[in-house]
Amino acid sequence: MKKFYDAREKSAPSNRKALQDKALSAMVKLGYKKSPAFKKILDLHKINPAKIKCREDLEILPVISREKLVEMQLKTPPYAGLQNPQSAVDRIFTSPGPVYEPHLSESDYLWARAFCAAGIGPDDVALNAFSYHLVAAGLTFHAGLRKVGATVVPSGTSSSQVQVQLIRDLGVTAYVGTPSFLASIISQAKEMGYHFKKDFKVKKACFAAEPLLPSLRETFEKEYGIDTYQMYGATEVGDVAYECSQKNGWHLCEETVVEIVDPSTGRSVAPGELGEVVVTRLNPIFFLVRFGTGDLSRLMTQKCRCGRSAYRLAGIAGRVGEAVKVRGLFVAPSQLKLLASKVGGAAIQAVVDRRGHEDHLTVRLEKSSVLSDKEGERFKKLFREICTVRIDELEFVESGVLTSGEKLIVDRRNW
Ligand SMILES: [Zn+2]
Repeated sequence: MKKFYDAREKSAPSNRKALQDKALSAMVKLGYKKSPAFKKILDLHKINPAKIKCREDLEILPVISREKLVEMQLKTPPYAGLQNPQSAVDRIFTSPGPVYEPHLSESDYLWARAFCAAGIGPDDVALNAFSYHLVAAGLTFHAGLRKVGATVVPSGTSSSQVQVQLIRDLGVTAYVGTPSFLASIISQAKEMGYHFKKDFKVKKACFAAEPLLPSLRETFEKEYGIDTYQMYGATEVGDVAYECSQKNGWHLCEETVVEIVDPSTGRSVAPGELGEVVVTRLNPIFFLVRFGTGDLSRLMTQKCRCGRSAYRLAGIAGRVGEAVKVRGLFVAPSQLKLLASKVGGAAIQAVVDRRGHEDHLTVRLEKSSVLSDKEGERFKKLFREICTVRIDELEFVESGVLTSGEKLIVDRRNW
């Protein structure tokens, strides 16, 4: 098992910057030539592509939020015209919005750096409990695990009972998925009469798509002897950052240019200050330059004891806009508006809070002539179709309770 994925992880920050600046400049020039939509953005802002020579030059370009990308893709399906039409696309993933993402390439091993830093290698049998269905997660985590040599059990979103059986029968050593799902697998094992630590071999866990609460991390590590690692990315741009053995911030991936910006100006904030995480993945296929994740974080530029020289993100402090993640999936105001249009314009509000370690989604829906309170199940199904996420509680409210001044999404979780 390798300590570092490759030599780039130890390179001097100035060398890394030079390498990334060169790739960035090439990407912008290629995008201008190949993608009419990207050319239009530059022309609109009177930017000569040859002038973009380094990451600092990016600031004159607009940040493209998830909402904006959805809007652009609706106008120009499937990729908003941001792709290189001459490139072969291996896979097309989708995520709620909907957003379509051309997978960069099967030879671009997302997450492998993260798994390497978590000490996962050829001796591991890894249970990949991320969905393989439509979304990017399952297959991209799978490829990363294979790249570091691990044997993968593609369990996806099978029930926790099935996951326990797989962990037991196959001698699984590492778990990849959300922290809340691991917590429910552990409690399922208990119900089935097992002692998770004594009876099973799971010693490592890599989490993404959901925040790992410190209390839950402590339970996993102290009570169950599982070494835990956090990974951070977005389906639109792939892997962005990952935790090392020091567990103090997440190292930025070599393939991504990350800016921390003031969401109101799009300009970089000083290192250490909170701002929006804006990502550009260096690649010759999809010219999504300056993708605004909507996540808030800070940049740590100090040296890390693990030996990696890449700067780190100090976790995620929250969300910039109103779009919130529920159990790892985004719910955006645009989706609720679409939903409202399908139920005769009835007012809708989504309220997210936490019950134990789980996200809990309550949806408040105005009774209307189109939808009576007897049709809750139909609405729940429609909600799941549009927003992907399941409603935990549906509350019908009288007409006029939800005024136009109310927020569409209320996030009551403490981050
Ligand atoms: Zn480190």
